[in-house]
Amino acid sequence: MPVPETEVFDRLRTLVAIDDAAARPPRGIDEVFTGKPLGTVPIGTAEDVAAAVARARVAQSHWAARPARERARVFHRYRSLVVAQRAALMDVIQAETGKARWAAQEEVMGLMFAARYFARVAPTLLDERRVPGAFPVLNRAFVDVRPKGVVAVIAPWNYPLVLSLGDAIPALLAGNAVILKPDSSTPFSALAGAELLYRAGLPRDLLAVVTGPGPVVGAAMVDCCDYLMFTGSSATGRTLAQRCGARLIGFSAELGGKNPMIVTDDADIGRAARAAVRACFSNAGQLCISIERIYVHRAVAEEFTEKFTAAVSAARLGAAYDNSVDIGSLISAAQLRTVTDHLTDAVAKGAQVRTGGAARPDIGPLFFEPTVLTGVTEEMVCAREETFGPLVSIYPVDSVAEAVAAANDTEYGLNASVWAGGLAEGERIARLLKTGTVCVNEGYAPAWGTTAAPMGGTGISGVGRRHGPEGLLEYTEPQSVVSTRFLNLDPPPLVPRDLWQRVLMTIARSLRLLPGR
Ligand code: NAD
Repeated sequence: MPVPETEVFDRLRTLVAIDDAAARPPRGIDEVFTGKPLGTVPIGTAEDVAAAVARARVAQSHWAARPARERARVFHRYRSLVVAQRAALMDVIQAETGKARWAAQEEVMGLMFAARYFARVAPTLLDERRVPGAFPVLNRAFVDVRPKGVVAVIAPWNYPLVLSLGDAIPALLAGNAVILKPDSSTPFSALAGAELLYRAGLPRDLLAVVTGPGPVVGAAMVDCCDYLMFTGSSATGRTLAQRCGARLIGFSAELGGKNPMIVTDDADIGRAARAAVRACFSNAGQLCISIERIYVHRAVAEEFTEKFTAAVSAARLGAAYDNSVDIGSLISAAQLRTVTDHLTDAVAKGAQVRTGGAARPDIGPLFFEPTVLTGVTEEMVCAREETFGPLVSIYPVDSVAEAVAAANDTEYGLNASVWAGGLAEGERIARLLKTGTVCVNEGYAPAWGTTAAPMGGTGISGVGRRHGPEGLLEYTEPQSVVSTRFLNLDPPPLVPRDLWQRVLMTIARSLRLLPGR
């Protein structure tokens, strides 16, 4: 099992945007599969953030002055570099997260898609656009789209490359600078992604990766930057939303999920059962959009459960920097504890373990078997709380209406999956679900990969959207410029005010006859 070389981590460490890094205490990062040290990064401070923001403001004023088309060229080059360096990127991601190779590849592909999509659409979406003025001829109007300034990107550990750089890309393309804080346990994936962006020609001060604890470095970022893009738990999202509110700065928050899958009685049960393995256990279930609740029509529930548990039992759990395994490790002892606690609670209250159910220290310190439960009831913690691990529950239902009601009975609203006999029926059910994305005949990946469509959550799953035009424009401030010519709105000389008001009213009433108004 080849571990990436220590030199890689030593090189990446030098990219941390902290002036006097040697004066900061180091934080060690270990290889998840084995617990062996990989390298260290400095633990930054609020002063380090302030210094990075000051440098970023200078760099941003030059960057924003460059045409969007020119900025986009950097990201076209970036996409090519990501493709060329994909194996090295996957090695780093796997080393510090312990995920399986294919889950690391999902990140690399997500980054490629984001770079390509936003680089293509940014020049058009950011172009100044003419709009009809209040009064024809008299008013001429256009809307200019301007960057926010310096954007704070606070990222989680589960998809540490794509949920950091993937969000930095649209923010940068829109003309902003970015201060990026990776999770404390996964700095190297973000640094590896940033390294390629510098190589593609992005000035260093425009994207500053500052490492350190969330409550110190992350909080300082919210205090100094002009916009926040946060991905993480709903609890932290709430805290940061209040902080943004106090400063009246905008934010986008991509938070947790308790995502449902619905399987109807006429669905292809074999296909649904096989695909559900990926839908539930990508990155060992540590994925905000993966499935934790499966509602299956009672007529096919036992068939689905048997096929699904057989496919789950056959999945290869292991530690390897290649495609020889299906499911990797959990990332931390805290994650292992949460999964164990949710499982113990469910079993104590009567749930049945259909497959899995045990930690696997024989494979690595943080491995846990993919686990399928039936008989889960309301009083069990895992019925409503996000486990964010390899634990999924199957619930038989008597109708589609019951499945939809149960799926929607949650504070979360991130992603859902629907398996039905036909696409039209699948899409009909999708429209009844209160989630930001729905995948028909898949778990989550096509919605994630459709970069042209917005992605995000309702309820406590988030505010705002990444991807799609919304995912670029949220990093901008529109400015409307409206010029008045020939006359202004005062009555012309010798025209009585009464008559003038009647003229204006007549014009206002007839505006509906003109197109685009
Ligand atoms: P977390 O909220 O603990 O941490 C996320 C980030 O916030 C980290 O970088 C952390 O250092 C930082 N942070 C923590 N406390 C902070 C504070 N007080 N001030 C500023 N920054 C702070 O979340 P986590 O446990 O790392 O991630 C798992 C959660 O993230 C799950 O709930 C998961 O569903 C969610 N998630 C959501 C998405 C999405 O796109 N919707 C994607 C991935 C993960």
